[in-house]
Amino acid sequence: MHLIEKNTAKECIRVLKTIIRTENECYCKASAFKLLYHLEHEPRKYLPKVSPGFLLELLFLLKGANGQAGFPRYSPPKFLSLSDRDAALERCIELDRYASVIERYYERYGCGLEKGIIEKRGAVKAKILAYFKGSEADWQDYRWQIKHVITTLKPLEKLISLTGAEKAGLRLAEEQKVPFHITPYYLSLMNPDSRKGFGRSIRAQVFPSEEYVRQVSYAKKHGQCMDFMGEASTSPIDCITRRYPQILILKPYNACPQICVYCQRNWEIKSLSEGDVASSKVQEAIAWIAQNRHISEVLVTGGDPLTLGNGYIGRLIDKLSKIRHIERIRIGTRILVTNPFRIDGGLLDIFRKHHAIGKKEICIVTHVQHPTEITPELVESVRKIRECSIKVYNQQVFTYYNSKKFETCSLRRWLKVSGIDPYYSFNMKGKQETIDFRVPIARIEQERKEEARLLPGLERTDEPVFNVPKLGKVHLRAWQDHEPIMILPDGSRIYRFYPWDSKLELTSPYDYTDVPIYDYLMRLNADGDDVDDYQTIWYYF
Ligand code: SF4
Repeated sequence: MHLIEKNTAKECIRVLKTIIRTENECYCKASAFKLLYHLEHEPRKYLPKVSPGFLLELLFLLKGANGQAGFPRYSPPKFLSLSDRDAALERCIELDRYASVIERYYERYGCGLEKGIIEKRGAVKAKILAYFKGSEADWQDYRWQIKHVITTLKPLEKLISLTGAEKAGLRLAEEQKVPFHITPYYLSLMNPDSRKGFGRSIRAQVFPSEEYVRQVSYAKKHGQCMDFMGEASTSPIDCITRRYPQILILKPYNACPQICVYCQRNWEIKSLSEGDVASSKVQEAIAWIAQNRHISEVLVTGGDPLTLGNGYIGRLIDKLSKIRHIERIRIGTRILVTNPFRIDGGLLDIFRKHHAIGKKEICIVTHVQHPTEITPELVESVRKIRECSIKVYNQQVFTYYNSKKFETCSLRRWLKVSGIDPYYSFNMKGKQETIDFRVPIARIEQERKEEARLLPGLERTDEPVFNVPKLGKVHLRAWQDHEPIMILPDGSRIYRFYPWDSKLELTSPYDYTDVPIYDYLMRLNADGDDVDDYQTIWYYF
């Protein structure tokens, strides 16, 4: 066996050993091993009880453990048998081949800076302006955008063509008072004719499905806790969340001009008219920060704090800046994507006043999900911020809608060109209402190793992470931070996560049930993708 193949075999054996283990069977209340035994002895009875995903997981594991994973390709690259210039030239042929594959995929996804897409969006914008009787000056006024945030089905029906399922989801959301918000600007980014093409991920981002609304309203009606991240248990005082030694989150506002369906704070995000937080609570939170000298960094987020006016933001940053031990103020905002006109002169003056290299840093952490969200308006707002020597970072949530082969690489490329540094890629949380968005952990790991790895280093600066409720991020690339411990009959893996401080404290590990790889591949297949492109996914753990 080739050493590389042996390595895959060792990994598969390690996974098999954790799965066929009494301790894990007890914790998971399931036994893949027992199920295999029954399948062998009573196939008629047990085959209907397992999904193809379960069988494939086991099949690939056993093949891998026996050195039959089927990769890597059996002949070594030719340049390894050559030397000097001959080797270099041969390697160039190989690398050119890799580069052409990347470029081919990039062409599929498009970017909001492309002429054709800009023109199409211009037509939607004209229609929206006519509908709201607005002018070009109105369009570029962030207050006008916020005033005209779309919260009902009616304008959407008039302005773009909606599918039956989209209408049903939006109608139910309206009836059940599950808020959805779309700025006129963000609506203009949608493909007006269909859910396909450049508007796919944009519609998915803001149109709640019927199932989502049902689950959320059921949870609300029955008082079910939706605080998946256990924020209540990490909040020492109202408006503050603290999970790490030196940084905490300050939430002065609980609404966003655009609500992301998969938001992990969906239980806390309110409609724009209900988003205000009592000023006394924010003041108490700032006083709490002032009294804790260990805190060196504050992430001001929410909701989207840049929905607030300059006066409020100015006073807030002023107060935080005066706290001697605060070295950095991050502003977590999606406004660059939803209402880029918000970056006005007044806001830039506030940034300039408080950002002093060598003393105190202001920085922006934004949330771009897809290259089609990168538009001339976004680039212009980033340019203005960067001219104040302020850095802009991106936190992407890795969802079904940006998980295709090289799709996130394309995002990284356009982010970097636009002056934004990729910072984190978040694995989607395990909440049932957001099942449509979830992607198996194996896919994010595959993306990192087989796609991101091919990019220039400065483009792939983001770290894929999984956010453990109450405890915070663990890095998905590290074997020592997580392991699969069971495969369930529906083909989903149960992972155990070891939190960031688990070598320092006796914190509890966190067990997480992932979405089945087989289901994910079937969905890609139904969407017209070639699942052979993802064939090594079974060997990422
Ligand atoms: S912008 Fe951020 S806080 Fe607001 S809904 Fe989206 S993910 Fe949630």
